[in-house]
Order: sequence, then C-alpha cells, then structure tokens
Amino acid sequence: MYYSDSHTHTNYSADVPNDRPLSVDDVCQSAIRAGLSYLAITDHYEPEEEKRGIVRHFPFASMAADVFAAREKYAGQLKVALGIEYGQPYLYPDEIQPLVTAYPFDVVLGSVHYIPGKPGYIQRNYREMTQADRDAVFNEYLDTYDQLVHTDGIDVVTHPTYPLRYLLRQNIPFDMRDWEERMRGMFRVLVERGIGLEFNAAPMRVPNQGIPDHTVETLFRWYRDVGGEIVTFASDAHFQAHVGAYCDRTMRILRELGFRYIAVYENRKPQFHSIA
Ligand SMILES: [Zn+2]
Ligand SMILES: [Zn+2]
Repeated sequence: MYYSDSHTHTNYSADVPNDRPLSVDDVCQSAIRAGLSYLAITDHYEPEEEKRGIVRHFPFASMAADVFAAREKYAGQLKVALGIEYGQPYLYPDEIQPLVTAYPFDVVLGSVHYIPGKPGYIQRNYREMTQADRDAVFNEYLDTYDQLVHTDGIDVVTHPTYPLRYLLRQNIPFDMRDWEERMRGMFRVLVERGIGLEFNAAPMRVPNQGIPDHTVETLFRWYRDVGGEIVTFASDAHFQAHVGAYCDRTMRILRELGFRYIAVYENRKPQFHSIA
C-alpha cells in the first residue's frame, strides 16, 4: 500500500512553538517511521497576518533549503515535497502568482482559517449561539470557501468542514446534509477547475468529539458523485506523532466510497497511486 501525507507543519509555522522538536528533518524522520513514501511540508503562510504584523515574514528561502536538503538526505526512502498552506489567498489575488512561482513548489494548498475582522472559528463559543447564529456562521464560511474554490494559483483546497471541528468539540450536533446543495456546487467547481480536495484526518485524532466518519464519507460521496477524482491525504500534523496518522483508515474509507487512487503532487501536478 502506498502511504502519503500531503499536509504537515514544522517549526516554520507560527502556530508551532520554537521549542517543539518539529524541524523539517524531524518531520521526515516521523514520516519514515510511519511508513510513508511521500511527504509534503506545507507550513502556514498567512499574508493578512503578516501585513497586520501579527506574524513575522515567512522565511520561504530557508524552508525551501531545508526541504531540498531533506529531499537529498532521504532520496530513495521518502519523497519530500515543497509545499505551502496559503491562508485566505483570495484576499490578495494579485500576490498569488508571483509568490507561488518564485519557489519551485510541488503543491500549493489553499485554506480558509478566518474572515478578517471576525474571530477565528477556533475561538468562537458556539454553545452561547442560537442554532440560527450557528447556521449563519457556517453559511458565511461557505461563502468564503466559494471564493477559495474560484481562486487561481492553488492546487488543492483544505479542510472543507473546518468550523465543524470546533462545533463538535463543543458537543454541538451538526448535520452536513443541510448543506448538500452548496457543497455539491463547490465540488463541481473543483472538478471543472482541476483542483484537488484533501481528506483532512485531523478530526479523527480528537477522541469521541471528532467529525464522525459518516459526515466525511457523505462529503466525499458527493465529491465522487460530481466526478471528483483528485483526493489527497492530510494529517495536518503539528506534532511528530501525528505525521501520517490515520492514513490507513482514510484509504479504507476512500476505497469503500469507490475511489481507486490517492493523489500526491509533484511540480504542481497530481500523480495518482492505486489504493486498491
Ligand atoms: Zn489549515
Ligand atoms: Zn494545516
């Protein structure tokens, strides 16, 4: 079986403390221990937060140098891809192409983490909201996600159910089927534009409170229904122990849904590996 992880973080991400042992090399060693054949380093690039001075300027050159060194060191053992998780890329559309062509990226992930001027999804207290308020939060998120799927210069969109992670951690039930038409519409756009959809396994690591498998399965069934074929696996690891975690279970779920391949990106093109 071919195991890959197309979304991982290192000390270059602002949400990873410097004293956590999570260098590019540390993540590569974890990937090898987890039996992976492919690893993409995709640290957070948040241009809006840089402009507001909340995070330092992202050190693209040193990250790329570390990835190239690791690629050479682990050649034959592990394919190490240069990636980036680009936060809210649609906010500054003119800046995307110059940036993603300035470095030889293998994969550019596009993410929605927050809406400028509003609290992040991780920070909101969903328990104190009415159901209508919670629905409004998710609708606004999907409006923003709709901008993301129309953005040029990204290869894969990440965690389509991001706010759900935090709703469910606060024990608030949620039925994805209420959003079926909107989600299917966005998946059609992905298919038309040749953009990949990641299967983000991070919620599987939160015992009893993660996004239930059936919710994620429903989403990927809709994606498949509209012709979706480009699925990447994402641990979204911010710790060594999480690199590659639940890849096996994810491959099983995808297989049961009728997917035959997992995609990994090299030179910004998807390569397909059998999961049969
Ligand atoms: Zn993210
Ligand atoms: Zn991430």
